[in-house]
Amino acid sequence: MFLESFRHLIEIEALKKQNQQNADTISSENKRISDLEERRKKSQSQNEILKIEEKNLKLTDSQNQIEDLQGRLTKLTSQLAMATTLPQETAFKNQIQTIQSEIEKLEESYFENLEKSEEIQNTIKENNDFFNGSLITLEEIKTEVAKVIATEEVIIANRIKRIDALMDLCNPSMKSVYLDLEKKFKPKSCVAYLIDKKCSACHMATDATLRSTLEEGRGLECCPNCSRLLIPETAKIY
Ligand SMILES: [Zn+2]
Repeated sequence: MFLESFRHLIEIEALKKQNQQNADTISSENKRISDLEERRKKSQSQNEILKIEEKNLKLTDSQNQIEDLQGRLTKLTSQLAMATTLPQETAFKNQIQTIQSEIEKLEESYFENLEKSEEIQNTIKENNDFFNGSLITLEEIKTEVAKVIATEEVIIANRIKRIDALMDLCNPSMKSVYLDLEKKFKPKSCVAYLIDKKCSACHMATDATLRSTLEEGRGLECCPNCSRLLIPETAKIY
């Protein structure tokens, strides 16, 4: 009495598997949007960090420091020119030397930082270009994705209708067992096949009574190990 219902279950399971493929397509389509959105967001948060990094290079500060020292150097040079004694001359020369080497050091790090700053600004620009340019791409992808999803959803909805119709053709007690197990196993399949005397899902061997009940369509049996509803192989060729 159950063999025909088993056959419906086989078809239901196949339809569900197909629907799963369409659902996968929908999620991978959605992922195209979220991936791009994620990349756009990342470009902006990276820019925030880069702006701070650039600020921390304190280029203006070192520029001012260098200018100050250069001012002092000019002053000392004119003082040196007016020095009247040898000790005075030596003292000015020493100060000039100290300041010159300070300027040298500062300039070295200033130019290093200037290079870094240019690199940072380039990256910021690239990120902004990507952010602005990808807005159009994002809108295009969204339109494309919406179309694909709408098509997929129609296919899924039609299969669900077919599944519901098949479900109604099933023996009522099988239907209720199936619906209960379906909830329990979601998102996995709640049915398994009895193949070579074993459950196709967990490979547990079954006893002869269970097999004959099932194969003759006299009753419903669940796998004693994984508790999936077992479908006999005889239903496949029925
Ligand atoms: Zn099993």
